[in-house]
Amino acid sequence: MTKGNINVSVENIFPLIKKFLYSDHEIFLRELISNATDATLKLKHLTSIGEIKTDYGQPKIEVKIDKDAKTLTIIDQGIGMTGAEVEKYINQVAFSGAEEFLEKYKDSVKDSGIIGHFGLGFYSAFMVAEKVEILTKSYKEEPAVRWICDGSPQYTLEDTNDKTDRGTEIVLHIAEDSTEFLEESRIRELLLKYNKFMPVPIKFGTKTETLPLAEDAAEDAKAETVQVDNIINNPTPAWTKTPSELSDADYKEFYHELYPMQFEEPLFNIHLNVDYPFNLTGILYFPKLTNGLNIEKDKIQLYQNQVYVTDEVKGIVPDFLMLLRGVIDSPDIPLNVSRSYLQADGAVKKISSYITKKVGDKMASLFNENREDYEKKWNDIKIVIEYGMISEDKFFDKSDKFALYPTTEGKYYLWSELEEQVKPMQTDKDGNFVILYSTNADEQHSYIQSAKDKGYEVLLLDSPIVPHLIQKLEQSKEKISFARVDADHLNNLIKKDDAAISKLNETEKESLKKNIEEAVNDTKFSVQVEDLGSSEAPFMITQPEFMRRMKDMQATGGGGMFGMSGFPEMYNLVVNSNSELAAEILKNDNAEEKNSKIKYALDLAKLSQNLLKGKDLTEFIQRSYQQLSK
Ligand code: ADP
Repeated sequence: MTKGNINVSVENIFPLIKKFLYSDHEIFLRELISNATDATLKLKHLTSIGEIKTDYGQPKIEVKIDKDAKTLTIIDQGIGMTGAEVEKYINQVAFSGAEEFLEKYKDSVKDSGIIGHFGLGFYSAFMVAEKVEILTKSYKEEPAVRWICDGSPQYTLEDTNDKTDRGTEIVLHIAEDSTEFLEESRIRELLLKYNKFMPVPIKFGTKTETLPLAEDAAEDAKAETVQVDNIINNPTPAWTKTPSELSDADYKEFYHELYPMQFEEPLFNIHLNVDYPFNLTGILYFPKLTNGLNIEKDKIQLYQNQVYVTDEVKGIVPDFLMLLRGVIDSPDIPLNVSRSYLQADGAVKKISSYITKKVGDKMASLFNENREDYEKKWNDIKIVIEYGMISEDKFFDKSDKFALYPTTEGKYYLWSELEEQVKPMQTDKDGNFVILYSTNADEQHSYIQSAKDKGYEVLLLDSPIVPHLIQKLEQSKEKISFARVDADHLNNLIKKDDAAISKLNETEKESLKKNIEEAVNDTKFSVQVEDLGSSEAPFMITQPEFMRRMKDMQATGGGGMFGMSGFPEMYNLVVNSNSELAAEILKNDNAEEKNSKIKYALDLAKLSQNLLKGKDLTEFIQRSYQQLSK
């Protein structure tokens, strides 16, 4: 038997690290199972190159709890270690790794920035165990050894006959303050969290399975049951396969495997696969985003070689894709670093822009493959696409291929189609393409109607981020401007039936304008008399586009511009000189009647813009009833 001192310079490194890593104790199991997996995969490699003559077989990893003995044991059938290897890898490598870690992070661990996935390896066992035993037998012709360490720098190492088969058993004597790790439910939870997709089968207990009855079984024969290994994980999850091996149904099945509590089907999936200049595989899913989405749960999960790391993927996945679900697996993402470092890391930036590019390409191909289906799903995915267009220039540049602009009539245009088909009808005097849009088809109904009557196309852009999207489009495309359907721009458009004849002469229009201004008597409204079609509303309120937009931007967080808040209310009151009401107002000599007609018409115009509220609305309704009973 050898006794020795582990070569660490920091005395009492154990309690120290235990304290530091307090919140993350549970990762010990992930670390130990990772080691067991490595040892198994090394065995696989050595058998494949003929270095080990035995058959690889179907090795598994077993996790066992013994409540009475207060032990948790992890058993693998991997390459094992000789006594000399334990000396080297456990006493020197493992501990020096831990020491190095402590040295490096002594000061920073306390900072909130540490992600909490340290890759501390074997050493993390001491976060939950007061004593750790290693019982291991190498594939080489050498005796098995037992190593014991109680968490002080002293250890013992001796040959033993207690283990005859190849592999390693790590026995954790669970400490008093960590007895939760002797609970079956807790261990099951951890195995499902961290090891659900690890590449070697993991056995945890057994389960009862019913054998199918033989075909010639007697009618009253009882089904036979057997105890079989309960395998916790799926060693070959979908993302480790190639897209050609997977059907649509396979992708959906994997989605539900990943998120057992999700009952809705995903809309699309995107299979990621790169090996240069970094390694990355994964599958991203577009969920339906409309019905009260819970973004806090079921987020994108990050794996490293099939080991779960975290679902905090900020920085790795561009912000606009945080609403997606799925997995990313990359050995190249540094894990034991702080978040701010992660965001500045070059490799991580490349990963993020690769993902952006891939999503753009996929959208374009989905659109080309089946436009009808894509249009149907547009409403559910638009917020992600629009957010991406605003926040990632590269994505914006590609978006002409897949961003849709729906109309209030349910038609969908690509940008190029808008330019081809709509622009010729909607150009203003300066040659700008004026794009009319509505943010709410119900509230702006009368304006949409009147634009349609004139032969204009009205887009329905109703996501909350539309003000930003519009700004982005106006900055990036030449000679275009957006105008909400109730904005004043509409009048600048060159009308097809421009020859609207005026029923009133200039003097009459002037006096109509004066009459109305006096009756309205409110500087918020600037009165404009226009020659509109006789079927158009007599009074209409429009708002200068820029004014409303400033307010919208402010409401969606883009504002606070120039420290301004509370823009002045400013509206145009457009009076249709060709309407019957205009003629009636003009010729009525009863000042009181004239006045009340104008006020009534103004109230109606306000009502259709949702501007009549509170006391004014109550009075309007009272007045209307009085009118009725006259
Ligand atoms: P890392 O896994 O990062 O190398 P660890 O501290 O986890 O660091 O382990 C140190 C070394 O101990 C491993 O590299 C490996 O050689 C050896 N080792 C640990 N666990 C096992 C095991 N279950 N079977 C065989 N070797 C192991």
